Amino acid sequence: MRAYERLLQYVKYDTTSDENAPEGRCPSTEGQKAFAEYLVKEMERAGLAGARRDKDGYVYGFLPATCGGRPVIGLISHMDTSFSAGGAGIRPRIVKNYDGGDLVLNAEKGIVMRADAFECLAECRGMDLIVTDGTTLLGSDDKAGIAEILTAIETLKARNRPHGKIAVAFTPDEEIGRGADRFDQKAFGADFAYTVDGGRLGELEYENFNAASAEITVHGVNTHPGDAKDKMRNAILYGVEFQSMLPPAETPSHTEGYEGFYHLTRFAGNEEKAVLRYLVRDHDKTKFEARKTFLGNIADFLNGKYGRGTFELAVKDSYYNMKPVIEAHKDIVERAKRAMREAGVEPKTVPIRGGTDGAVLSWKGLPCPNLPTGGFNFHSRFECIPVPAMDKMTEVLVHLAEG
Ligand SMILES: [Zn+2]
Repeated sequence: MRAYERLLQYVKYDTTSDENAPEGRCPSTEGQKAFAEYLVKEMERAGLAGARRDKDGYVYGFLPATCGGRPVIGLISHMDTSFSAGGAGIRPRIVKNYDGGDLVLNAEKGIVMRADAFECLAECRGMDLIVTDGTTLLGSDDKAGIAEILTAIETLKARNRPHGKIAVAFTPDEEIGRGADRFDQKAFGADFAYTVDGGRLGELEYENFNAASAEITVHGVNTHPGDAKDKMRNAILYGVEFQSMLPPAETPSHTEGYEGFYHLTRFAGNEEKAVLRYLVRDHDKTKFEARKTFLGNIADFLNGKYGRGTFELAVKDSYYNMKPVIEAHKDIVERAKRAMREAGVEPKTVPIRGGTDGAVLSWKGLPCPNLPTGGFNFHSRFECIPVPAMDKMTEVLVHLAEG
């Protein structure tokens, strides 16, 4: 079976994770539970031993070593999909031998992927390309990773060449930042691992953001507007003032590469109370700390202006840049580069403008760079993945295991 055929099966499951689910609920959604059950059977069909789902919905299995003296390599993907776009009723379509032009995803609804708006399309010319119907995401993030890993396992079994033990895990709730929380590293038993959760073929990632979330609660006082002079303290307007003090160019839409940002993700409220939520991101640890301090300074300044307790700030770190951990194990990056070259893929190291389960696992003692799946435009209705990229990634994983 080819990797894309598996993917087309997997996207039938709605595994959208829910960021509002209580911390104690894992997986955060029922759909993931059902998919995890299915994945245990998939693991068995692909030839993995010890396939099981634990109480938190994590799925584990392993391929026994065919020779001694090799390290245990881990391969990890996540089973949930982002809540940023619909994940139910996905209707994938394969565009055969894509001609490089504008791509009509949905004629009825007039949804078109314009070639001049999506630069990835130029790279997909001549390929069979899996797209959506323009109303949901595709779910190749990260079901393509699962499909590629299991196809590689099937291939490894059939080839029966020398390789060490391969540990495989599929995690829930990566998209809501909880994927590594209940990961059983000890049972997994890998010396090092790779997440298969990246984008463009060839991209190898071991630097990611330092990440925190910040919530600013603004307390105001409401009165009848006709009688509000010197009485009303409009929390929404105070919130606007808070936002206006952040550097306007330091947002996701104005930054790239190693540049950090403040990302306002939510602003809701009324005169009485308003809440602003931010994601704070920076590759550089010192700058990351400075960003959090800056938010605190604004809150202090505005509290000085409007009275103590008007602005409440809560900041929580989410994950850290894995770079220092991986740099101490540079050989695992070299191993991945070799595997890519053996499959005819030129590796390119790029900084992740986000995080992965691997970043958290790296800091917990399991060094874990990120490999690509081959897909594009994750978390969006315009998500797509070329069939040949999935085949190539499967090949890369086979070389990685045998390398
Ligand atoms: Zn992902």
